[in-house]
Amino acid sequence: MKVLEERIRQEGQILSDTVLKVDSFLNHQVDTGLALEIGKEFGRIFGGRPITKVLTIEASGIQFAMAASIALSVPFVYAKKKKAVTLSEQVYSAPVHSFTRQESYQVCISQKYLGPGDKVLIVDDFLATGAALVGLVDIVREAGAELLGVGCVIEKCFQEGRGLLEEMGVEVHSLARISAMAPGEVHFIENEEI
Ligand code: 5GP
Repeated sequence: MKVLEERIRQEGQILSDTVLKVDSFLNHQVDTGLALEIGKEFGRIFGGRPITKVLTIEASGIQFAMAASIALSVPFVYAKKKKAVTLSEQVYSAPVHSFTRQESYQVCISQKYLGPGDKVLIVDDFLATGAALVGLVDIVREAGAELLGVGCVIEKCFQEGRGLLEEMGVEVHSLARISAMAPGEVHFIENEEI
């Protein structure tokens, strides 16, 4: 998605050879116009599939899952990173190790909002090591729902996330695919026409 690649080039800060900071428009301050365009693009890519629910993980996936759910006219659900006291019902849960925070946590989703019969699109902001998305895939499978695809806003192709997901039989589409980065330069892989 060219407009997204341009924003990453203009505003992205490369903090190390593996960490890209995009919090002026993507995951701290959010450019809502761009987020809605991202949702439309997910809608275009996945719209031919009988998706019943979009799933993400709090917090940075929420605006993109919401935008995709608007484009697809289905609800979205976000996995919580801590079981809140208000979440008294039965939950599905999976362990996740965070790449950026260097800590492990349990993600959970109420069994009321995901179950057999659901056809799920998972959306997230970044695909890096894949740990967060593998956790969500495990939850979809535990729920007996069907996974119809994964959509990521930014993929760092030099990390192992895509490989892990594809080994699990999951189809992944990312809107901006970074092959390499260093201070002042970001290289993208051209996406094939879908
Ligand atoms: P994972 O390593 O599980 O694929 O990434 C999990 C989460 O870490 C992503 O959803 C994203 O929120 C965050 N993350 C991973 N790599 C980066 C990065 O380079 N920059 C930022 N801002 N977040 C990242």
